[in-house]
Amino acid sequence: MDKCDTPACQSAREIFEELEEYYDDHNLYFQTIGSVLEAASLLEMPHQLKLILSQPKNEVMVHCPVQMDDGTWQLFKGYRVQHNNVLGPYKGGIRYHEEVKLDEVKTLALLMTMKCALARLPYGGAKGALKINPRSVSQKELERVTRRLTAALGNNIGPDYDIPAPDVGTNAQTMAWMADTYINFAESSTKVTARGIVTGKPLEFGGSAGREKATGQGLVYVLETLLPGIGIDLSAQSFSLIGYGNVGSWTARLLQAKGSELRAVLDHTGAIFSEAGINAEKLATYVQETGGVTGYPDAQKISEDEFYSTPVDLFIPAALEQMVDLEHAKKIQCRVLVEAANAPTTPNAERHLLDKGIEVLPAILCNAGGVTVSYFEWKQNRQSETWDETLVDKRLKKVMRRSAELVLETAVELDCNMRMASYAAALKRIGKVYAMRGVFP
Ligand code: GLU
Repeated sequence: MDKCDTPACQSAREIFEELEEYYDDHNLYFQTIGSVLEAASLLEMPHQLKLILSQPKNEVMVHCPVQMDDGTWQLFKGYRVQHNNVLGPYKGGIRYHEEVKLDEVKTLALLMTMKCALARLPYGGAKGALKINPRSVSQKELERVTRRLTAALGNNIGPDYDIPAPDVGTNAQTMAWMADTYINFAESSTKVTARGIVTGKPLEFGGSAGREKATGQGLVYVLETLLPGIGIDLSAQSFSLIGYGNVGSWTARLLQAKGSELRAVLDHTGAIFSEAGINAEKLATYVQETGGVTGYPDAQKISEDEFYSTPVDLFIPAALEQMVDLEHAKKIQCRVLVEAANAPTTPNAERHLLDKGIEVLPAILCNAGGVTVSYFEWKQNRQSETWDETLVDKRLKKVMRRSAELVLETAVELDCNMRMASYAAALKRIGKVYAMRGVFP
């Protein structure tokens, strides 16, 4: 990871020195909290709020013993980090990944606090993870470990307290197992509303129409709001993607439906390119069947370097954090970098891209569609309602447009870039609520 010498890292260094806390420039959490604290300084937020936001409220770690199909035992490490709940219950996904670390989960929890505040949702921010490669275990093993994790988290989660959702490596099936386990422990009088313990459930089991495509759909609404202002018309753009999972593949299909063209994709199996354009629907089917983009017959295989250097209008990282570092940024040739993944761009890479005149649209704005439709699902569960996709999309569009316009206004007001503006808009709301509620005791 790049050595960080941005004002954001300097902001983080100051607070952590005061807290006499360990500080590491190369660490994702410090780089991210640094940007948030830099935005807090732009707003002249009270010092105590910077201190409060600089660390999560709770960091829960559990260990889940699970018997594997062959009779052996394995111990899986699980996390739930609850960053802040001043605006409402903690909210955020659960990630299954073999290399997940506490630092990453803390970062993602912080970003959820910012994301929910910017989207004006009645939620705080959290994130969970299980250190497992979901592709390397059977469905039965995955079910057992998911149920064990849910039980281990116990009262640290709840429909009015902390509400998990899908993230990288988890899906509607994972949420169904979590909800079923939680409901089994719930009092009989609360069993119906207890399904609100998680969002992103299957449609037949209290899920919402439009939830699966929601992150991609929300991103398209953000682009439709912001791009015309910089002379970009979505009906004729080329784009490339890192990642072709839920977010990447839905983004590709929805952008293609608007008339834009997918040129190149990089995922964990390799990179592909087609000058004539890659059919996003066909690629989604191929990836579902084979597990990755490599070998897709209607495109040519390219190297990772060639992928980053491919000229496109929109460059969209939609996989894990830190996929765009300074070296990649030097190669990237695009007009706008759209962050579909959480924290995909290192601070030094961002600065380089901005210096080159590339617009960077931040994740907490671009990918808030997922948690917004999660909120709609939770609301439908509480009110025993079922909204159709047209209604979900209409309400999602309203939220995404409002957030995008707010970020733009804030950027003008504070004369700052879009990331600073998105954090500042989120922090203003958090700051107002702290000012009214005060800090206990
Ligand atoms: N995991 C998604 C995110 O990072 C969705 C979270 C949710 O729906 O709570 O935004």
